[in-house]
Amino acid sequence: MTAVAERIAATADRLAAPPFSDRDDAVSRHAFTPGFTATIDHVAAALAAAGLAPRRDPVGTLWADRGAPGAPRVGVGSHLDSVRRGGRWDGVLGVLVALELARAGTTLPLRAVAWVEEEGAGFGQLLLGSRICAGDVGAAELASTVRSLDDGRPFADHARDAGLAPEDCEQSADILNGMAAWIEPHIEQARVLEDSGARLGVVDAIAGFVQADLHITGRADHAGATPMRLRHDAGLLAAEVMLRLEDLARASDGAVVGTVGDVALTPGAVNVVPGTARISLDVRGRDDAAVGGGPVRAPHLRRRTGGGPRVGVHVRRAVPPARHRTRRGRRRRARRRRTR
Ligand SMILES: [Zn+2]
Repeated sequence: MTAVAERIAATADRLAAPPFSDRDDAVSRHAFTPGFTATIDHVAAALAAAGLAPRRDPVGTLWADRGAPGAPRVGVGSHLDSVRRGGRWDGVLGVLVALELARAGTTLPLRAVAWVEEEGAGFGQLLLGSRICAGDVGAAELASTVRSLDDGRPFADHARDAGLAPEDCEQSADILNGMAAWIEPHIEQARVLEDSGARLGVVDAIAGFVQADLHITGRADHAGATPMRLRHDAGLLAAEVMLRLEDLARASDGAVVGTVGDVALTPGAVNVVPGTARISLDVRGRDDAAVGGGPVRAPHLRRRTGGGPRVGVHVRRAVPPARHRTRRGRRRRARRRRTR
């Protein structure tokens, strides 16, 4: 390993334990926790020591420029928050590469960025900092619907407690000013590269995603006294949806992947037919049409219930589909706005 790689590895190790992680058995830090704050402060101090002037945008994204003001810049970075019980490399690698570029004596006009709350572990919203920067999430949502998974308080309240000004979140777009390119070195999160023995992969598409909660309503009945033909078992439909999701994802030939990671049946007793079921949906892929298609459409699911048990399905979409911001897409959106 080169000296730079060794330093990146040593820093990643250090940031994987308290006080930089909220747990000592895994990396856990999401926006505004003690571990997250310690990590951001540590990296900001290192960027300052490298001669940059780090700043926070109004929601907590850390960024720092090197080179003459106004010059076009190459953005390099990733994120410093983690999933709950995450690994040491996710996000951290990209930010530490930016830090090493800042330390290196190159003339690269650099913008180092650590996006806040990328993983959604604190507020249930993936890519929150970058979606705020892109103008997809505004101050009103930060003060109302985007809430802490731990205490239910809005993101804006937590941000203000951290000394930020979330009501000015539109200023987050400044991070993109003059940004000529964006490079995000990132650890592979699966094992495709590892299995193939390749040391490096280049991303050729960014997956869009839909996450949703599916609420299925049937009727709770006694598990012994209720004949099978009289049941409206919400749990069975949940199981069917899970299997159907797998069928659709496998049939898409790699276009989408689909996951149900969270299932809750009520009343949740061994001797009661489930009256309601809630399952999470997470569908991702490089093709917007495929991602927004079949598996997350309530009408599709309702059709499937025809003739079967009498159950209702309600989809609460937790996160809107993340769209690829192609130039064509932007033009299309602008046209739509004009014709409305
Ligand atoms: Zn990541």
